[in-house]
Amino acid sequence: MSVDIHPDRYCVHQVTLMEQCDFRAAVEALPRAGIGKTAVWRDKLDAVGVETGRKLLADHGVEAVALCVGGLFCHRAEREFRAALDANRRWLEQAAAIGAPSLIVITGGLADFERDLAGARARALEALGELADDAAATGVRLVLEPLHPMLCGNRSVIGTLGEANDCLDALDRDDVLALALDSYATWWDVELDAQIARAGARLRHFHVSDWLADTRDLRLDRGMPGDGLIDNRAIRRSLEATGFDGPVEVEIFSARDWWRRPADEVLATIVERYRTAL
Ligand code: ZN
Repeated sequence: MSVDIHPDRYCVHQVTLMEQCDFRAAVEALPRAGIGKTAVWRDKLDAVGVETGRKLLADHGVEAVALCVGGLFCHRAEREFRAALDANRRWLEQAAAIGAPSLIVITGGLADFERDLAGARARALEALGELADDAAATGVRLVLEPLHPMLCGNRSVIGTLGEANDCLDALDRDDVLALALDSYATWWDVELDAQIARAGARLRHFHVSDWLADTRDLRLDRGMPGDGLIDNRAIRRSLEATGFDGPVEVEIFSARDWWRRPADEVLATIVERYRTAL
């Protein structure tokens, strides 16, 4: 297995250029840096519209590997739960329209569940089960992404790859359900390698950034790969041992640092880190 990441696997999420670039500026900047893949962010897509978004991607030869981020369906109240499912059906259609094979989903947090964590997790399972047929109909897979447990309250009641594997075991719809591994969310987990092996072909997306030793914000201070404590290369090897050969997707939320730098500088740094840190 080669250590180097082939440039065909370079992929930068639109959120990595959240403050610098709108949809158009991002799809113009990526090819300038030799990056041919992206994950589209819903806010960015909504700002230009699906048809324009699709055309901009095609015109610049940029491939959308996923639409981010769907899910957010952990509502106890039936009406809100149904509304969230309908929203996800629209996002599946949007993903299909821009040629993205995946809709990345996070469950959402406790919202109106107060202290009923078990209830929220059951709702997440119910939602994924209901949406599986919609995913099959649109030809877009639903990709569950567990987030770091610090986000259990407000973003995701699924906090480990092991729990995400349990969900997919319970639903038994591996034809349309898959998993995303984000190194920032999972790097601390002593079971990580074992759960990667267990997930096997379910793992369709690999998100990378870094955990800064002196992190100042638990969500919006992700580091550039190589600047922190995560051995992203070791996690990639573990993933590739299962047969994974998909893109290595750089996803950096960095309100104080990388979102404030010129897009070309951010992308040039990422390309360098593909060689040295990923
Ligand atoms: Zn991610």
